[in-house]
Amino acid sequence: MTDDVRPIIFLDVDGTLLPFGGPGMLPEPRSGPPAPGTPRPELDLIDPALGPLLLGLGCDVVWATAWMGDANVVVGPRAGLPTLPVADLPGYGPPDAQGLGWKTRALVREAAGRPFVWVDDDVSDADLEWIEREHRGRSLVLRVESAVGLTAAGVGEIAAWLGGLPDATSGGTSA
Ligand SMILES: [Mg+2]
Repeated sequence: MTDDVRPIIFLDVDGTLLPFGGPGMLPEPRSGPPAPGTPRPELDLIDPALGPLLLGLGCDVVWATAWMGDANVVVGPRAGLPTLPVADLPGYGPPDAQGLGWKTRALVREAAGRPFVWVDDDVSDADLEWIEREHRGRSLVLRVESAVGLTAAGVGEIAAWLGGLPDATSGGTSA
């Protein structure tokens, strides 16, 4: 698969790689990295197996998180991920007048027609409808439960979707 058609995986952190809200976990969503020196024992909840599973999908994995570049320093190593590009997102904020989340327009713009998967715990029906209408290529939005986060089964859903793309080869594992 050539670079211009290889799917992108936009990857959230809070509630996606880093679960919250479950038993013994942080009660509230986070919107980015902690202040320096703040203890974050919940970072140990990040599953180090997820990175290799995601990388094995043969996509371009891109951070789509308020952590921005800090994701590469704090989260990536715990998730088994190398340094990844970071989506160019606006500042974190509430849904706009159309009900769109703060990442939605930016991710569709960044995808620029390439197929993409967006893995996030905070995507509304308005976001889904807007993506369906405005994005020129194929897309899969995988909404995960904040208290659980992304699982191997979720990665399996992505793999199945990739395998159904028109130009997929060898089960979506081509590089
Ligand atoms: Mg999130």
